[in-house]
Amino acid sequence: MKLIMLGAPGAGKGTQAAGISKKYNIPHISTGDILRENIKAGTKLGIEAKEYCDKGNLVPSELVVELMRDRLSKDDTKNGFILDGFPRSLEQANALSAFMEMDVVIDIETDFDIILKRLEKRAKIEGRADDNPETIKNRLDVYTQETQPLINYYSEKQILRSVDGNGDVEDIFQNIVKVLDDYR
Ligand code: AMP
Repeated sequence: MKLIMLGAPGAGKGTQAAGISKKYNIPHISTGDILRENIKAGTKLGIEAKEYCDKGNLVPSELVVELMRDRLSKDDTKNGFILDGFPRSLEQANALSAFMEMDVVIDIETDFDIILKRLEKRAKIEGRADDNPETIKNRLDVYTQETQPLINYYSEKQILRSVDGNGDVEDIFQNIVKVLDDYR
């Protein structure tokens, strides 16, 4: 299964993608995690990406698309994968579909007031540089402008499945499993 996890920052994509990865034994590919690793390691990509990530802006698509093209050519993706945080704009979605079609896009729909509470909590626990109030606001604006149009894009391709993301982590997970078991 080639899956995409869609949703706003803090909607629970990472948590749910990790669970799906484990249950279906497919790699969890998070562009945010890969970028943060590169920033920490001080690679060329990390140096280029840092200022965008710190401000909560999107890293230029050509960098991210290249990164994903490379990652998705690895052997461990042969039986499927779950993408978390990519694509994040129509430009990226078009670039992806030019080299690979997806099976299911799961959109986690979470209210912004719940998201703000979760991100506040995460800021304390994980200490992520981009989980401060100003950057969070920008990330939600970027999501609304750049990423939200993907809901329509994948809906038109008839592969979008929406799941309510406001409840309990385990209930959300069971709803995603239902969607995926129906697909299979
Ligand atoms: P995330 O962990 O998914 O919230 O991503 C953290 C940050 O990494 C984002 O705010 C962006 O700066 C950057 N990033 C992650 N994925 C992408 C992407 N697909 N395109 C551009 N920038 C990205």
